[in-house]
Amino acid sequence: MTDSSERIQVDEIIMSELRRAQRRHSRVLGEYWPSQIYSCLRKQYYSFYEDEVFGDDALRNFEAGNAYHDLIARTLQKWGNASGARVQTEVPIRIPHRDHPEIVFSGRADDIILIEKDRRRFILEVKTTTNLVQKLGAGNIPRREHLAQLNLYLRAYPYSSGILMYVDRATLKTHQFDLEFEQHIYDETMKRVAALHSYLKESRLPPPEAKESGAAWMCRYCSFLSLCSNNQNPGARP
Ligand code: SF4
Repeated sequence: MTDSSERIQVDEIIMSELRRAQRRHSRVLGEYWPSQIYSCLRKQYYSFYEDEVFGDDALRNFEAGNAYHDLIARTLQKWGNASGARVQTEVPIRIPHRDHPEIVFSGRADDIILIEKDRRRFILEVKTTTNLVQKLGAGNIPRREHLAQLNLYLRAYPYSSGILMYVDRATLKTHQFDLEFEQHIYDETMKRVAALHSYLKESRLPPPEAKESGAAWMCRYCSFLSLCSNNQNPGARP
């Protein structure tokens, strides 16, 4: 047995690196992220004023998601090299709001993979999950926010087909949904981002959407729980 003073705790090293690498994003009024727009409106509002700090479980999940995404992207790139398909990752996205020119969806779409083959283009959005088979059986996936996110990308890349693929983190089993652009989802997304923009522009605290919509489980993982419970509005500070 190694003396305890000579041992290194690998898990502690991994976690301290993940914590250190947490990205801080400065937010700009008018620029919104496709991946966030369906999360709780109040949470999005807070994220413009305060850094979101993730717990260890969330950091592990993000990292597992990144690892699976890289694996799938690398595999598709090999297939693309052999078959003549073009495979791109981390594509930039910029989608102006159709009615409000001061609002734009923007960011680096790092969970999608663009595949061009035989004059057709596919947008693959990869999401990792647990208990894939049970969630499929219970109708818990595809999730509304994932459909809406992919739908936005389909607007950014017209005449493309969408593939929303869920990967089980424990088994690497996958399930894909083949999707086309849907106007009504797009309209709903445009309404939602306009509402968020107006809360921010007017420094009005949005309602605690997750709590009020039966999704209070989200609050357990929300780094703004204490601000929210006290109805604090950082935008109203003098
Ligand atoms: S605690 Fe819940 S309701 Fe409040 S901001 Fe966070 S997710 Fe939204």
